[in-house]
Amino acid sequence: MANLKFQTLLGMHDTLPQDQAYFLKVRKSVESVVNYYSFSRIDTPILEMTEVFVKGTGVDTDIVEKEMYSFRTKGGDMVALRPEFTPGIVRSYIENGMFNLPQPVKLWTMGPCFRHERPQAGRYRQFTQLDLEILGDASASTDGQIIQMSYDILKELSFKNLSIEVNSIGDSECRPYFKKILTSYFKSKKSSLCSNCQRRLKDNPLRILDCKDEKCQRIKAGAPQIVDHLCEACHAHFKQVLEFLDELELPYVLNPYLVRGLDYYTKTVFEIVDKSENGESQGTLIGGGRYDNLVKLMGGRNTPACGAAGGIDRIINLMKAKEVKTLKVEEPQVFLAQLGQLAKRKSLKLFEEFRNAKIPVAESFSKDSLKAQLRSANKINAKYVLIFGQKEALEDFITLKNMETGDQEEIKIDKIVEEIKKRIKK
Ligand code: ATP
Ligand code: MG
Repeated sequence: MANLKFQTLLGMHDTLPQDQAYFLKVRKSVESVVNYYSFSRIDTPILEMTEVFVKGTGVDTDIVEKEMYSFRTKGGDMVALRPEFTPGIVRSYIENGMFNLPQPVKLWTMGPCFRHERPQAGRYRQFTQLDLEILGDASASTDGQIIQMSYDILKELSFKNLSIEVNSIGDSECRPYFKKILTSYFKSKKSSLCSNCQRRLKDNPLRILDCKDEKCQRIKAGAPQIVDHLCEACHAHFKQVLEFLDELELPYVLNPYLVRGLDYYTKTVFEIVDKSENGESQGTLIGGGRYDNLVKLMGGRNTPACGAAGGIDRIINLMKAKEVKTLKVEEPQVFLAQLGQLAKRKSLKLFEEFRNAKIPVAESFSKDSLKAQLRSANKINAKYVLIFGQKEALEDFITLKNMETGDQEEIKIDKIVEEIKKRIKK
C-alpha cells in the first residue's frame, strides 16, 4: 500500500489551469453563436435511468451495447452516466411539457459525457460535448440552421479547412426496403466482414456502414447507396436541405455511406471534419442530424427534431496543434507591494477594499523582498505600483509609483482607492 500511486482513470484527464484558456475560448465562441440563434441553455443530470439511453440512443448501438457506464445504485435502480446528451434532453422536453411552449424549442448545452471506449487520440472515456437541439420543427431550414451553426462555431475558432459530409438515411417509409437490399449485398460478402458486423447483418445492416474495421470499410465501398432508394418525402426533404446548404455557400460533400453511430436518426445526417495537414487527425469534430421519431419513441408526442453534438476535447487538441491563440487575460494595471509584517497585515485589508471598489489589483503577498515584488509588477506591465512599507503602515499613507514616468507620491491610505480610481479611468 505504501507504493500506491493515485492517478486518473484510463481515458480520463485533468483540465489543468494552463488549459482552461482553451475551454474559455471554445465556450465564448459557442455562446456567441447560440445566443445569436436564440438558443436557451439547458442542463440535465449527468446520471439518468439507464433505460433513457437504451430507448433513446438505441439498444443496438456500440454506445449502449459496449460503452455505457451503467450500474445498480445502493437503492436498486439501474442508472447510467450519460454517454451523450440527446436522450436526456428529450426526456426533459417531455417531462417538463415543453411541447406547450411556442415551437420550435431551441436548446443547447455543454458538459462531460462518458463512454467506456478504447482510449486513443481524440477518444477518451470522459470527454466534453457541446450539444444543439431544435425540437418541434420538420422543415429543411432547421437542418440547414443546425449545420450552419456547427460550422460557424468551428469557424469562430479559426478552423479553415473544414469539410461537411452529408447524407440522408431515409425514414420508416423507405429504410426497411433499403435495409433488405443492403443485407443481401453484405450477405454475399459475409465471410469477409468482421465478426461484429457478421452479427449486425441480421438486424442492423446500416451500422456496418459505420464500422471502423478496415475489411468492412473496403466492402462498404461497393455497397448500394441509400440516396438512390429514398421515398418521395425523404428525397424532397434532402433536396431542400442541399438547396439551403448551397444558398449558405457551405463547403459540403455528399457521403452516401455516412450513417452515424446512433439509432435514432432519420433523413439528414452530417459530420464536420478538419482536413488540414497540421495536427493529428481527430476524426469527426461535430456530427448530427434529424431525429423525427425519438420524442414519440420516448413517450412524447410526435415531434420532429434535429440536432448536433461536438467533441470539445478533439476541437481543443486541434486548436493546440494549430497554435490557435487563446483569449488574453486582462492583467491589472495596479500592483500592491508590501514590506514588513505590519504592512503585510494591512495589505490584505487594502486589497479587499480594492475588490469592493471593483478595481483589479495584483499582489504577491507570498514574497517579502521588494525587488522580487517589483519584478512581478514588471511582468504584468503594471502601470502603478503601490508601495506599502513599515513607515507607510505606521503613518497611514502609501507610496504610489507611476511606472511609466518613475514619479512617486505619498497618498493618505484612506484616499488611495479613490485616487487609483481616478487615474485608471484616464
Ligand atoms: P466516432 O465515430 O468518432 O466514435 P460518434 O459517432 O461516436 O463518433 P457522436 O456520438 O456523434 O460520435 O458524438 C459527437 C461527437 O463527440 C463526435 O463527433 C466526437 O467529436 C465526440 N466524441 C464522441 N466520442 C468521443 C470520445 N470517446 N472521446 C472524445 N470525443 C468523443
Ligand atoms: Mg463512437
